[in-house]
Amino acid sequence: MSCIVSRSRPMLLRGTLTTFRRRCGKATCRCATGEPHESPALTFTESGRTKTVTLAASEVAEVTAALAAYEAARAELEAAAQAGLVKLRNRRQGGSGSEGGRR
Ligand SMILES: [Zn+2]
Repeated sequence: MSCIVSRSRPMLLRGTLTTFRRRCGKATCRCATGEPHESPALTFTESGRTKTVTLAASEVAEVTAALAAYEAARAELEAAAQAGLVKLRNRRQGGSGSEGGRR
């Protein structure tokens, strides 16, 4: 078990990287005249609701990598699950069929 802990795993994130636009509300700010503040943000669904986390510009690269890492890990998991299914099916077809009564 310790091998999993000691291995430095990349951060994983699920969601979409977007640009969040908002007006801060200050009358003297440039956003009051029509140019809203733009900041990178991560949107994701949690418990069926869409949520947004605004990001610092310095975090964008890290978040992008974390999103890619999640996609890669998910694709790997999907492939492994598909391989397991193929294995199970091959076992059914390869056997004599005496146990395959339930359908
Ligand atoms: Zn503003």
